[in-house]
Amino acid sequence: MNSGFGLDHLPYGVVDGHCVVRYEDHVLDLSTVPGLPPVFDCPTLNRFLALGRPAWEDVREKVTRVLEAGTATLDAIYEPELPLAVGDYVDFYSSIEHATNVGRKFRPDDPLPPAWKALPIGYHGRAGSIVVSGTEIVRPHGLRPSYGPTEELDFELELGFVTGPGKHLGRPIGAGEVRDHVFGFVLVNDWSARDIQRFEYRPLGPFLGKSFATSISAWVTPLAALEPYLVPAREQDPEPDGYLRTSGDWALDIALEVDVNGVLITQGNARGLYWTFPQQLAHATVNGAAVRPGDLFASGTISGAEPGTHGCLLEAGTGYLADGDTVTLRGRAGTIELGAVRGTIVSEP
Ligand code: CA
Repeated sequence: MNSGFGLDHLPYGVVDGHCVVRYEDHVLDLSTVPGLPPVFDCPTLNRFLALGRPAWEDVREKVTRVLEAGTATLDAIYEPELPLAVGDYVDFYSSIEHATNVGRKFRPDDPLPPAWKALPIGYHGRAGSIVVSGTEIVRPHGLRPSYGPTEELDFELELGFVTGPGKHLGRPIGAGEVRDHVFGFVLVNDWSARDIQRFEYRPLGPFLGKSFATSISAWVTPLAALEPYLVPAREQDPEPDGYLRTSGDWALDIALEVDVNGVLITQGNARGLYWTFPQQLAHATVNGAAVRPGDLFASGTISGAEPGTHGCLLEAGTGYLADGDTVTLRGRAGTIELGAVRGTIVSEP
């Protein structure tokens, strides 16, 4: 089977304080490649993201050439680090199946909020709590409504995109500009404490029930590598407002799965999301909110309509995570393997 990390992929990450590209089971230290911009001898991809699409394309082309020639010195993968300094983090709510299922549990009389089909609903999360795959997740304490450790610790299966170069305040990013502003994608686990969330969320939305940890994959898959897997998005009814309209194919055909302690518990596909990533970025900035290199925008939990496609335990109704449980998210688009997101629950730091 294809490794998923071949020449058609070449995701970016950070190892040992340097920006690297992953190729098969090795990495190429980009600061050692002649002719590349001087932005890789540092522990985040942000300076590279800031350069914009012409530089992204140029680097990808040069790295591909070096790897094809077989002349580059490759290193073993050793403990990949958080690849980005995430300045701002947004989490959307873009799966109609997830929103409807959760709505039925939290608000049986009003499962899908009135605005849900008019705009991609989201909230601003806590960037400082974003951690790389492999980081242990400490079970959070809080009011549930009595104080104590959460008894309803959950995962959320999500796909996130990473921005660069961004725009200043007052300048929205149009849905049609997405290729100049979305660098690539990571898998995201939006860890959630449902008992804390249920008690605190009205009227301003998630706060401590979500902000204790969000895990992302160590490898950022460039949008350039995912272009062959862009497919038509599902129909939207009613037709969205003008700033949310797009032309072309903007759903991502990425097969997703989650296992807990090695047991497969859900499978799905990102192509079923109601709101697409160009619409998410256009909506997040339509008011002129600034976007900077390395901002993270997550899709919201990706669920399907069939049994076994629930993107979180709240929907599956099969109980919650125990201390010692390890949750692993995986994604695959054709020959491309997205970086996995793994986390183990612990009771103390
Ligand atoms: Ca979420």
